[in-house]
Parts: sequence; structure tokens; C-alpha cells
Amino acid sequence: MIIKGLQKLSLIDFEPYTCCVIFTAGCNFRCVFCHNKDLVLNPDKIDTIPNEEFYEFLEHRKKWLDAVCISGGEPTLHKDLPEHIARMKSMGYKVKLDSNGTNPDMVEQLINDKLIDYIAMDIKETPEKYEEIVQVPADLDKIKRSVKLLMQNRVPYEFRMTMVPTIVTHEDIEKIGKWLTGAHKFFVQQFSNKICLKKALEKVGPFPLETLKEFQQMLEKYIQNVEIRGTDNELLNCTMSDEKLLENEKNV
Ligand code: SF4
Repeated sequence: MIIKGLQKLSLIDFEPYTCCVIFTAGCNFRCVFCHNKDLVLNPDKIDTIPNEEFYEFLEHRKKWLDAVCISGGEPTLHKDLPEHIARMKSMGYKVKLDSNGTNPDMVEQLINDKLIDYIAMDIKETPEKYEEIVQVPADLDKIKRSVKLLMQNRVPYEFRMTMVPTIVTHEDIEKIGKWLTGAHKFFVQQFSNKICLKKALEKVGPFPLETLKEFQQMLEKYIQNVEIRGTDNELLNCTMSDEKLLENEKNV
């Protein structure tokens, strides 16, 4: 596991727990709205936080932190992720995983081995429009397997989707609701144009709150709990800002 960023304290990433957030290198998607350009495209440009330095940090923070949130990039690209999670669990930490759902085999292994306490999985678009968002060929069978796996309710989870203006439509939301019928929790995430992998989107404003509320109501026909997140323009997704990433590296 290659760690490129560490947020030492978060009260919002794994509520109600106090957690730290680590950002792993690399991603197999290139989402148009992604704020983590270097983490995704040029991870080698960012200094690596040695694993042992991170475990030393965890050792010293046991009194103050309940959990570790593992984000990226896409954490499941790292083959040794299960061993690292096992080590964090053996230290008494709860673990939340942020994932884009492209590695259902690893997610299943983590669930079977009782290594994970919560999973947040991104839904990017309807299956037909997935690649408009992720900008690379997407193995939709794997995405659909991950969705099914989470909907077995063997571990607490959420689905979350960033609502990208110019791409997401009401028709898409209806299709996504049908696809995820019976899901437990879904977050309608506001789009932020602060830093986007697709530069042109930086000139596009977010959906009005009213539209997000319409999406919420549509999804509530199919999904038990639907909430709106990020309307105060905080940075979202599986992300941290480039500035914050660098600032955190300096602070480790
Ligand atoms: S938003 Fe997440 S899944 Fe998409 S490219 Fe960025 S890190 Fe990868």
C-alpha cells in the first residue's frame, strides 16, 4: 500500500467516529470531476509517506482516534490492502473503505474476513453512461457485482454519487433508483468545480439545491435513506484538495 496523503483528524468522514484519512496512490478511473489530479495521474510526483511512519502515527493516536478511513485514488488497487487493514484492526481501529467498486473480489474478501466496518462506494452514473464520467473503459460487471455484494447488508455501507451538471439528468436518476432498488443508504453529492480532471468543468456551476432535492425525492421511491451532501461546497468524493494533500504531507 502506497500512502500519499494523511489527514490527521476528521470528524465527518466516518461518523460518529473520530478518524484519520489516508489517501493511497493511483486510480483506475479518470472521473471528470476528480479533484485529485496528481494522486490519480502522477502519484510519483507526490512524496510517499512510509508505511511504518503511518503506523507510528496510529500507535501514538490510539487515545484520540477511533478509526481509519482509507481513501484514494482507489485503495483496492493495492494488493496488500487486506494485510494493512488487518494490522490497523489488530491495533484496535475501526476501518472504513472508500472504493469505486472495481474490485469486488477484494471487497468480498475483506467482508468475509470481517476486516471492514463500513464501505462507501461511488456510483458514477447509469451503467450506460458510466464511461462518460470515468473516461476509461469500465468493467460494469464488476461494478454491478460490488453493488450486489454491498446490498447483501453484511457490512454497513453507503452509495454516493456526485451529480455532474451537463451529464446527469433526471432520467438517469430514475434509472439509478431502479438499479439500486432496496439499497440502504445513498448520498446525493453536490458537484464542486474547484479543481476538476476535465478542465472544462471548472467553468460549470453546480446544480441548484432544488434540483438535488428533486433527485433525492426521485431516489426515495427506491432507496430507504437518501441524503444530500456537500451543498456548502466542501470538497467531496474520494478526495482531498491538492493543497491539503501537500499541507498534510508536511505535517506528518
Ligand atoms: S474521483 Fe475517485 S474514482 Fe474517480 S478518478 Fe478520482 S480518485 Fe479515482
